[in-house]
Amino acid sequence: MPGWNNDKTLLGYCVRQVLYGRLILLLLASFGVAYRSHGQWVPPPELRNVPILNDCKMTRHGVGVTLQPTVFYPNGAIFLCPERERAIDARHPGASRFFLIHEYGHLAMRTREEAVADEWAAKQLAAVPGERNTLRAVLLHFVDDGILFDPLYGTGFDRALRVARAAGIGEREWPLPLIAYAKSAAARAANGTVVTLRSPDGYTNAAQMIICFDRQPIGFLSNVDEEKTLELPKLAPGRHSVQAVEVWLYHTEPSGIKSEVARGLRAEAEFESTGKNRLAIDFRFDGEDLTIRVEELR
Ligand SMILES: [Zn+2]
Repeated sequence: MPGWNNDKTLLGYCVRQVLYGRLILLLLASFGVAYRSHGQWVPPPELRNVPILNDCKMTRHGVGVTLQPTVFYPNGAIFLCPERERAIDARHPGASRFFLIHEYGHLAMRTREEAVADEWAAKQLAAVPGERNTLRAVLLHFVDDGILFDPLYGTGFDRALRVARAAGIGEREWPLPLIAYAKSAAARAANGTVVTLRSPDGYTNAAQMIICFDRQPIGFLSNVDEEKTLELPKLAPGRHSVQAVEVWLYHTEPSGIKSEVARGLRAEAEFESTGKNRLAIDFRFDGEDLTIRVEELR
């Protein structure tokens, strides 16, 4: 089919950019003091048996990582890196606590989507008056890393904005650089280009992927928990290439239950832009190969 293209071995510039971006994050955000206060936020009952293990190797020296339930960890597991927690808290005391609750969010929402876990954590913390400082501290932490980009999380500013909004923190309490960022983001959204992921018919009907346009990582696109749009820089008319990397495929039921079909796939496609600002990505999986296609909508 014209426009369809598959690439199982795409290990191009985009992937390296993605990995490089993560490496920069790891290098710049070195972290420290596991601060666990008592009598503050506690996990909901169904998550109280989740083991919390200190293991910087498991987190790949990030602050935390979550395993969904497995035979070995029937309740799932959260791994934290105390060294990173200490470094985070050294800059903004109490901020590292947010990341623990974010990890619980992955389990509560049964998702690997970072934005979903962030929003869950922000709402949980906002409901506990004693956690105000955790939210304030983590906003400052994200603003410090404001322009650092990671395709799974967006920029530090994106994350700060997401947390501030989900927690219902009024703009008057936002750090000043965040207010400025929110204004410029709104302006971009008003005249920018967006892409969505369309759900195909058939068993494999949902996906999550990192999207690159012309080999520049743009962000995380998903239609698993909800159909989200991703903002793009304005595309010049002409030929462009799109890469989908770290693609995870699912079958989702109308009830919301999802089962994983495949992970770690890649695909690439080219398309001709006429300068329209709404794009849709279609994907197909035949059990072995993933193909993607881009269509301009209007
Ligand atoms: Zn996460």
